[in-house]
Amino acid sequence: MSFQVFGIPVSRGVAIGRAVLVASSRVDVAHYFIAEAQVEAEIQRTMHARDEVALELETLKNDLPSDAPHELAALLDVHLMLMHDEALTGAAKQWIIERHYNAEWALSAQLEVLARQFDEMEDEYLRERKADLEQVVERILGALAREQGKSPVDAASLVQRDFAGEDPLLLVAADISPADMMQFKRSVFLGFITDIGGKTSHTAIVARSMDIPAVVGTREASRLIRQDDWVIIDGDAGAVIVNPSPIILEEYRFRQRQSELERARLARLRHTPAVTLDGEHIELHANIELPVDAPAALEAGATGVGLFRSEFLFMNRGGELPTEDEQFAAYRAAVEGMRGMPVTIRTVDVGADKPLDRMSASELRHEHVLNPAMGLRAIRWSLAEPSMFRQQLRAIYRASAYGKVRLLIPMVAHLGEVRQILEAVKKVQQQLTDSGHAFTKVDLGVMIEIPAAAVMLPLLLRHVDFVSIGTNDLIQYTLAIDRADEAVAHLYDPWHPAVLQLLATSISQARAVGKPVSVCGEMAGDPAFTDLLLAMGLRSFSMHPSQIPSVKQRVLRIDAARLAGLLPEVLFSEDPQREAETAFASHKGVSSLH
Ligand code: PEP
Ligand code: MG
Repeated sequence: MSFQVFGIPVSRGVAIGRAVLVASSRVDVAHYFIAEAQVEAEIQRTMHARDEVALELETLKNDLPSDAPHELAALLDVHLMLMHDEALTGAAKQWIIERHYNAEWALSAQLEVLARQFDEMEDEYLRERKADLEQVVERILGALAREQGKSPVDAASLVQRDFAGEDPLLLVAADISPADMMQFKRSVFLGFITDIGGKTSHTAIVARSMDIPAVVGTREASRLIRQDDWVIIDGDAGAVIVNPSPIILEEYRFRQRQSELERARLARLRHTPAVTLDGEHIELHANIELPVDAPAALEAGATGVGLFRSEFLFMNRGGELPTEDEQFAAYRAAVEGMRGMPVTIRTVDVGADKPLDRMSASELRHEHVLNPAMGLRAIRWSLAEPSMFRQQLRAIYRASAYGKVRLLIPMVAHLGEVRQILEAVKKVQQQLTDSGHAFTKVDLGVMIEIPAAAVMLPLLLRHVDFVSIGTNDLIQYTLAIDRADEAVAHLYDPWHPAVLQLLATSISQARAVGKPVSVCGEMAGDPAFTDLLLAMGLRSFSMHPSQIPSVKQRVLRIDAARLAGLLPEVLFSEDPQREAETAFASHKGVSSLH
């Protein structure tokens, strides 16, 4: 039966493929593909974990005291039976053989399939056995995790499978943590659908950085869609069409071809300098998550990296932090990869919806920290861990010997933080000099993400070399809207007059004292805001590489001086979005006569 699910469009385009359901975040496991040569070993891992748990249960049963309730032994029997049922481990084995899923993924995928079958059972007693099945799978996953702890996953063993000739796959999940998204980043999924999340949640950001269609905040897609269903993701409309009719499928295949043609057309702008009609040069920089993203940034025509989100180096490491040398190697790789263009490395921004491990945002929010977005995140965490912070600073400074490096600090709200940062920098410079490590001048910048920082910007500007406005968080904190919460996603409004005021004043205050200012939040990469930001005087934008061509196209059609003249009308309007649409649209008519 065909049906549609609607959510929030977060990454444009059309993707068509078969659904791969990733188990609910409660059963929290790593998902990665294994190489063909590892299939047998992965099956052995699964069977070994199962046997280990079965032995535990047998021992438990045999050791039951004679006065233990009879139901307990019966329950253990049910668990043992489920554990040996071919429908669980046999089928999981098939996922490993056919899809090359790792053992944890294979088990949790099969749990999804079976859990649905239980849900549909008429008999209440049988329906309730679902909980037993979940417990059994959790026990086996626990055994796998213990064994994994002894031999951590080697990142190099995670492979990018060649699925040529096979059906494309789309990922469907209740929620995906940013850490898991990184695992998927180099995988074969052509699109993502999640039940929760908002437009600027980090899962959405990573999907955009992968330049593949995604819809989040669908609330129940993962419950309604079944493993292997054919699905269309309409990333422009935020719609998901499940089991489409042949006519609908054909229509979307046509749209898919059209958007590929449009991308190819935009890609031709790669070598065109981003200069407005009135001759203003605009920097279009890239946001990256890992050094391997540098080639995509160059390919898209980026003139530097405006935001290297270094926290992604800290994820998927089983809680262990990267050493100074590991970080240095990564920063140096990014710097060398950008061939002499500036690379802005942001110090680790963990916390809120970016925990270090595989915990999802919702779990963190509901189970662990009261209000993570306002907790110990970003620079607050770094300053609370001074040796970790200095280690990162040393790695960043050492990379400066290989190219132009800029240091960016997230979530600054107090002058005291800036003073502590400057002190740490001084100490690190001294340490590097003493140990004979080379480094060059590194400009220091702070992110403007908290309204307090925007309001006191003139004070901050006395101490730093540049600022970068993180609109994702600035909007979140100005409007008190959790950016990852789909329940309030409709209130997350970049056009809100308060947000626009903060943006416009921050840009003009930085320009007034001659210090570089850029925007690196998602607004910078959305062509719907290019006119507005140029009108505010912004000359430096940082965004996912895939967004650069369409933003550049807008820049090329704009007369920045004329736009600036129209800004007050927009800023002081009660409906800035509508005002901007009409005011800037009339400008376009004029500029196209040039
Ligand atoms: C922002 O907040 O706008 C930003 C760029 O940082 P992040 O999205 O990583 O929080
Ligand atoms: Mg931020």
